[in-house]
Amino acid sequence: MSIPAPLPPGSVIGILGGGQLGRMLAIAAARLGFRCHVYDPAADAPASQVAAASTVAAYDDLAALDAFAAAIDVVTLEFENIPVATLRHLAQQVPTRPGADALAVAQDRVDEKSFLNRAGIATAPWRPVHDLPSLVAALEDIGAPSILKTRRFGYDGKGQVRIAAVDGAAAAWEEIGSQPAILEGFVPFSAEVSVIAARGLGGETVAFDPGRNEHRDGILHKTTVPAGLPKRLEQDAVLTAGRILAALDYVGAMGVEMFVTDGALLVNEIAPRVHNSGHWTIEACAIDQFQQHIRAVAGWPLGDGTRHGNAEMVNLIGGDAADWQRLSTDAVGLHLYGKGEIRPGRKMGHLTRVSPLS
Ligand code: AMP
Repeated sequence: MSIPAPLPPGSVIGILGGGQLGRMLAIAAARLGFRCHVYDPAADAPASQVAAASTVAAYDDLAALDAFAAAIDVVTLEFENIPVATLRHLAQQVPTRPGADALAVAQDRVDEKSFLNRAGIATAPWRPVHDLPSLVAALEDIGAPSILKTRRFGYDGKGQVRIAAVDGAAAAWEEIGSQPAILEGFVPFSAEVSVIAARGLGGETVAFDPGRNEHRDGILHKTTVPAGLPKRLEQDAVLTAGRILAALDYVGAMGVEMFVTDGALLVNEIAPRVHNSGHWTIEACAIDQFQQHIRAVAGWPLGDGTRHGNAEMVNLIGGDAADWQRLSTDAVGLHLYGKGEIRPGRKMGHLTRVSPLS
């Protein structure tokens, strides 16, 4: 199979989704001489503010999608809830990187866990749940405590509830809105880590060092690198991410979230895009996750993502960003996403501190 030619500078990269990840992708693309065209249902999206062109239209607006496809050379995405049908429609007209199959797997927690286990990758024990009796049966199988999550559209801890004992089934089923779900055994993890890895058109794969993640109220608060795991586990985490990308024949950057338990790793979820826990790479690596993704999507050789410092990335959530004046004088990399209104729980920006390698 021949590998398509790399896209030359000046080519137009279409980005589905206009959030902060798209914004940082568009900035990275501009550094390499590309233009970005952002497609988002909302006007003045963070990515549209820094892109050469934008389309404001619904994801199922076929006329707008056709006009978008005609204006771009390749399409990628920054948001995993883009309808798969949107990507399949565009795929008839323009290369889509990553492809619709990888997106579909990541959108449904049952498909995701089935895929991971088929690929030989360990996860928490899980069962699909479609009604209350199947939830009770799953709880009897897996035991409590466990976590009930909606199959689709869960993010930042939303759409999930912890069940302490079997008699909590009915309340939990109601709490998630009685919709198709997955029951997962509760993992008593010692740490949460993630690996950002990227795979090029020819299958070459690179990964950044794993980061250790801390959440607050279900939202990522901080990522620290090095993650402080034994070398053996750090290597295992990177190799596990590589296996996932290969099994999906993936093109682009992906975030793989894992739990560290008693000396082993369990994959929690995959994100078919650049990832919040990889923002530290902007300051701490010569080639960051956004550059790496754009290189992969454009069919360029992947770069050297070696870390030249230790890093700590902290998200600015809601009112944290109101402090921008003080933060802007700190010796840190400050990033603000151009979101007009500060709302509780909204990711407004982040900052990264880098220190000498230890
Ligand atoms: P998720 O939406 O799957 O990323 O879950 C959000 C957060 O909930 C994770 O980062 C963990 O802190 C926690 N969590 C999710 N699934 C489990 C599990 N099976 N066992 C323990 N904690 C979990």
